[in-house]
Amino acid sequence: MCGIVGYIGKQKAAPILIEGLKRLEYRGYDSAGISIIGKNKITTIKSVGKVSSLEDKIGGKSIAGNVGIAHTRWATHGKPSDKNSHPHGDCKGNIFLVHNGIIENYIELKSSLAKKGHKFKSETDSEVIVHLIEEFNKKLDFKNAVLEALKLIKGTYGLAIINKKEPEKIIAARLGSPLVLGIGGDEYVIASDASAVVRHTNQVIYLEDGEVAVIEKDNYEVTDIKDKSKNKKITKLDWSIEEAEKQGFDHFMLKEIFEQPKAIEDATRGRLVVSEGTAKLGGLRDVADKLRKLDRIIIVSCGTSYYAGLVGEYMLEEYAGIPVEVEYASEFRYRKPILDEKTAVLAISQSGETADTLEAIREGNNKGAITLGIVNTVGSTIARETTAGVYNHAGPEIGVASTKAFTSQLSVLILLTLLLGRQRQMSYVMGKRIASEMKKIPKQVEEILSQSKEIKKIAKKYLKYKNILYLGRKYNEPIALEGALKIKEISYIHAEGYPSGEMKHGPIALIDENFPSVFVVPKDSVYEKNISGMQEIKARGGKIIAIATEGDKEIKKHADDVIYIPKTLEMLTPLLSVVPLQLLAYYVGTGLGYDVDKPRNLAKSVTVE
Ligand code: GLU
Repeated sequence: MCGIVGYIGKQKAAPILIEGLKRLEYRGYDSAGISIIGKNKITTIKSVGKVSSLEDKIGGKSIAGNVGIAHTRWATHGKPSDKNSHPHGDCKGNIFLVHNGIIENYIELKSSLAKKGHKFKSETDSEVIVHLIEEFNKKLDFKNAVLEALKLIKGTYGLAIINKKEPEKIIAARLGSPLVLGIGGDEYVIASDASAVVRHTNQVIYLEDGEVAVIEKDNYEVTDIKDKSKNKKITKLDWSIEEAEKQGFDHFMLKEIFEQPKAIEDATRGRLVVSEGTAKLGGLRDVADKLRKLDRIIIVSCGTSYYAGLVGEYMLEEYAGIPVEVEYASEFRYRKPILDEKTAVLAISQSGETADTLEAIREGNNKGAITLGIVNTVGSTIARETTAGVYNHAGPEIGVASTKAFTSQLSVLILLTLLLGRQRQMSYVMGKRIASEMKKIPKQVEEILSQSKEIKKIAKKYLKYKNILYLGRKYNEPIALEGALKIKEISYIHAEGYPSGEMKHGPIALIDENFPSVFVVPKDSVYEKNISGMQEIKARGGKIIAIATEGDKEIKKHADDVIYIPKTLEMLTPLLSVVPLQLLAYYVGTGLGYDVDKPRNLAKSVTVE
């Protein structure tokens, strides 16, 4: 799940490529490299570590050339090292490529190429592709050599390839790993996603699986791997460059936490119809009849999106009366899911490229279910492969730990609950109540954000702990799980999220003065039960941070620290209660000195299974 960028045009390629890599660094950052075609030679520079190490290695050197490719890697085959970094070159140093994905049959290919005399320099699967192209390029031109090589490869790829013998050209190909081609006035930028393109142009085409693009200085052509020409639609990006920058915040994660009022507003704008107590979702209009007939929904997702799905389950069952199951997408297709045309398989994915979720959707499509998506990235693979769907419109999320995508996913799930609920049993009065309370949420999130200084102070007191338990019940059980995941991801503190009612069945054994708990305990239908749980922890000397409803003075008796959230409907509390948990994780992670935008071992969009 690396980041790829390629440039061809009139400007110097190197600075543009480095800038593009920085935008894509969230996709992988264990090593980076670039190759630029100059007069009669290709200059390749690679470095283990972040893009900044590559920049240091290049130093002040000016690399001539207007055509080049670059890569920031998230290793799958071979450890992060200079020699395993991309771009990879052929034996003669004529052809170089960058690859995102996994070549499943690389061992066979490697041994047959080695028998033909090819010398391999890295341990990667990717390197076989460049030698395979070299082999075909002995007899065929560059493009046909690439097409022949692709026919032999099994696995997934996003590729950008250059060849010294045809220096005014980049060939790109996609199967399973995203690629977008930015079309400027007199230049082209090919990249893994639009954040590396938007600075140059807002006109893009999204390559589909099985497509190959030959990009030259003043034109481009897209074909399939049998060389059949494809007609591609040019899409206009609606992201601004500012959206992809930090705007004065120390980290993307903090910026994105603070963008949540806007992200929730944007997810509901024009969709939440308070006067009618319902929601209008343009992306689902074509399947309205099918939705009316649905008798089951299976939500498939991973990580934070999975927890959004769990909240969705509570909402949809309680207010739309539809049975819902939530599945880890990575497990879904390895069972034998029983699906029919009255079942919707609903994928939730920020990137729309999550490999596990995509495969679950493909399984749903194969078995005749209606497939739906809640996706943030417009034009992404999941968005394209589902029957219908709703975009979050949260803007680019760069921080690896998801924040605003989560609350915008919850917002869309509320809209979906209103829509499906009002098609069924939900009354106008109930619909109107939910819709009007939902309208207040962005302002209420702002109120929580205004307490960030106090939350930072609380976080400081908990830096010394090695373990934290997160507890919640009903709508806030998934929020406890999400709170624990957040702190795990960015502060490396071991945290467990648990349904508070389950605590007494096991985890309570862990509690002592060195094992604090975060209790999500708003004034809702399970409040009293949660208070009993808190007392059980207190009785065993455990410290507690409570997330409670404004005005609840009683709670101070049971907790060591309290963070208040405004009052709302029980079903909407997750949108508020998660915000202090995000801030807590952020301030603990930064308090411990970690780079929370680039947590170790993680990458933003997981495009390998
Ligand atoms: N499989 C390739 C490697 O390990 C590419 C991984 C990636 O997508 O970054 O180098």
